[in-house]
Amino acid sequence: MDNCIFCKIAGGEIPSEKVYEDADVYAFHDIHPATPVHFMLIPKLHISSLAEVEDKHRDLVGGMMVLIPRLARQQGCSDGFRTVINTGRVGGQEVYHLHIHILGGRERLPGMIPHPG
Ligand code: 5GP
Ligand code: ZN
Repeated sequence: MDNCIFCKIAGGEIPSEKVYEDADVYAFHDIHPATPVHFMLIPKLHISSLAEVEDKHRDLVGGMMVLIPRLARQQGCSDGFRTVINTGRVGGQEVYHLHIHILGGRERLPGMIPHPG
């Protein structure tokens, strides 16, 4: 995708702080970290969001899930972490290239969605 910022990051056209790379995926630190550890894992293939994932992406997306615990441990998340995939308008997605946020640090993260009442 020509005008996709994460395609450009995965292709090295826009610099980023790399966490991991292989033939299929790229991981890099978020430019505005929300927690002490905050990086993202993306497929090199442009898929605009989780809503666009299809059966043909099964191995790619499955491989990403298998990779996450290893990368999280390497980044110091020895006692757990949180994964977030914002999807579409309702999910508050800002960059339309599928990405998995991996968030962690020393302290327990706050609850995500406040319960009513
Ligand atoms: P979203 O809301 O789409 O799930 O999150 C997009 C994330 O991408 C945000 O956390 C934002 O800080 C991060 N981000 C946006 N532009 C860049 C960039 O150019 N470089 C890096 N490393 N992160 C970015
Ligand atoms: Zn893209």
